[in-house]
Amino acid sequence: MQAEKPDIKSMNLEELTAFVTEAGLKPFRARQLYRWMHRQLADSIDEMTNLPAAFREQLKQSCTYTSLRMKQIQASEQDGTRKYLFLLEDGNMVESVFMRYKTGNTVCISSQAGCRMGCKFCASAINGLSRNLLPSEMLDQVYRIQADRKERISHVVVMGTGEPLDNYDSLLRFLSLLCQEEGLHISQRNVTVSTCGIVPNIRRLADQRLQITLALSLHAPSQGKREKLMPIAKRYALEDVLLACRYYFEKTGRRVTFEYSLFAGVNDTPEDARLLAKQLSGMSCHVNLIPVNPVRERDFMPPKREALLSFKKNLEKYGINVTIRRELGSDIDAACGQLRKRYMERRCMT
Ligand code: SAH
Repeated sequence: MQAEKPDIKSMNLEELTAFVTEAGLKPFRARQLYRWMHRQLADSIDEMTNLPAAFREQLKQSCTYTSLRMKQIQASEQDGTRKYLFLLEDGNMVESVFMRYKTGNTVCISSQAGCRMGCKFCASAINGLSRNLLPSEMLDQVYRIQADRKERISHVVVMGTGEPLDNYDSLLRFLSLLCQEEGLHISQRNVTVSTCGIVPNIRRLADQRLQITLALSLHAPSQGKREKLMPIAKRYALEDVLLACRYYFEKTGRRVTFEYSLFAGVNDTPEDARLLAKQLSGMSCHVNLIPVNPVRERDFMPPKREALLSFKKNLEKYGINVTIRRELGSDIDAACGQLRKRYMERRCMT
């Protein structure tokens, strides 16, 4: 069997230097190559004009150069939000979103093609996991969008399709390359990783002591309710998830964000708010309320405006720091995984 070709965009500078010197070139070529990939965001090896032509040819023969192809873009007329559908080398597809916030331009990326966590309200879970993404495939979502927009991306959230802590090693490498000085040099503080609560990997991540924000998808104030919404809750008890979040804060000093999607009649009562506040008491955290994005195949509905506001007020009454997620791109397929899913369905029908 032929050995897999090295994926150069997933290599760090040290590995790239070893690779380049092994090919008989001077080490400074590695820095040039690194910059072409991660700073100039080159779409192909051919663009790297200050590298010797013979070396470029050699790279093309012996390496994989990950560069995602834009399959479709949906642009919101309302707020500049853009959803991108990207095609991977093997025919898989992933989606990413560009959003404009006051704090800076933000890209939301996918960490897997599909997802195996099976959350009951999520479009990405419907067809299961196809495969993990490579670090280069995560990075290139940011790169292609920055190249398309010609505006600096300052914030990245790993909140698209997939469970980032189910692709832990690639996630860590992605984070390190994303924040590298020689690359886009995005501040760790401007990066958020959202997880459904894979406890051992939250702890491993905490031990890395990065300055990224951890967002925890809570969605329910009790073990019983959470299990009904998220199968992963059966594997990791709510109590242990919350302990892991406290550990994350201890190790990193970073306040944890709890995501709480509101489903009418399921988790939006005053009692739910009271219990939620109790679970989070004494914790340095922030709650982000997200009215559910209805997904065609699922029958969850968002609460009425008054119920949403009173849930927020109730939490505030108990001293919880809480915001309602600003809805962006509501005129385009906004819910996670919907663009990818619709595209795949259409392709199957034709
Ligand atoms: N696997 C990661 C990232 C998932 S998507 C995680 O579980 O955190 C980011 C957030 O959107 C998660 O909190 C997820 O639970 C939530 N989400 C998924 N589908 C949704 C929907 N239809 N409506 C509202 N929130 C949804």
